[in-house]
Amino acid sequence: MNPIADTAISQVHFKYSFLVVSLVLIIHALPFFAFFTPFNQADVWLFFVSYTIRVFSLTAGYHRYFSHKAFETNRVFQFILAFFAACSLQGGPLWWASHHRHHHHTSDEVSDAHSPVRFGFFYSHFLWFMQKKHLKAHYHLVKDFSRFPELRALERYWYLLPLPVIALLYLIGGWNYVIWGFFVPTLFVNNATYAVNSFVHLYGSRRYNTSDNSRNNVWVALLTFGEGWHNNHHRYAGSANQGFCWYQIDITYYFLCLLSYLKIVKNLKKVPEKILKEGGY
Ligand SMILES: [Zn+2]
Ligand SMILES: [Zn+2]
Repeated sequence: MNPIADTAISQVHFKYSFLVVSLVLIIHALPFFAFFTPFNQADVWLFFVSYTIRVFSLTAGYHRYFSHKAFETNRVFQFILAFFAACSLQGGPLWWASHHRHHHHTSDEVSDAHSPVRFGFFYSHFLWFMQKKHLKAHYHLVKDFSRFPELRALERYWYLLPLPVIALLYLIGGWNYVIWGFFVPTLFVNNATYAVNSFVHLYGSRRYNTSDNSRNNVWVALLTFGEGWHNNHHRYAGSANQGFCWYQIDITYYFLCLLSYLKIVKNLKKVPEKILKEGGY
């Protein structure tokens, strides 16, 4: 840990939320039942489908749409994105987007809720959101989406939303489907997302001299469908793509282009030419 992080973490008053700590323990403990359940090829497909749907809902939905309005869509698809993202047990759409907008306003300053530069790796990875002081959304930062009653309902009951998904998986394929279709991918989905707050504010390369410590990291970009191009993103957060050139793989953006072609989303925002040149693209 660096000396700045050492100082800042010593000033944190740890007060854990029982609900969130319990959920994190469940997310990290239940996948171990995979070692005691039969395994077949269908489980691999189930894992990838479940992982893909939820990572995309988080990256395209919670992040690029609800936090940054990088494209437009209709109210039904907005709800679908929010529902599946909430099924990852990372809080409701208003909580997630408001905390993320706050992160962009304060990135790697001492008021940033999850800066690894200030508070160290593990605090930024997952200890921060277990604290009672971070349980509430910054509602004043998400007035644009707070007006939708269906999103407020997801916001209120986010921790119960996986239950119908788990019940459906159980009815189709028993506990084997629950483990491989929900719990194992949830572990990977969550740690990949946490890595955007921890890893890519520490490890990787920088194209832009931003005021924070954001990095571009190809491994996190692959796991999170494009969110690892985080230095690009902190330089220009409003674009639908975070990979700024052809070799910066951005799977979320490829899906968004397909959905745009199908007219489910529209007005994908682009990076201005001037910003691309500034980064040497
Ligand atoms: Zn960041
Ligand atoms: Zn962002």
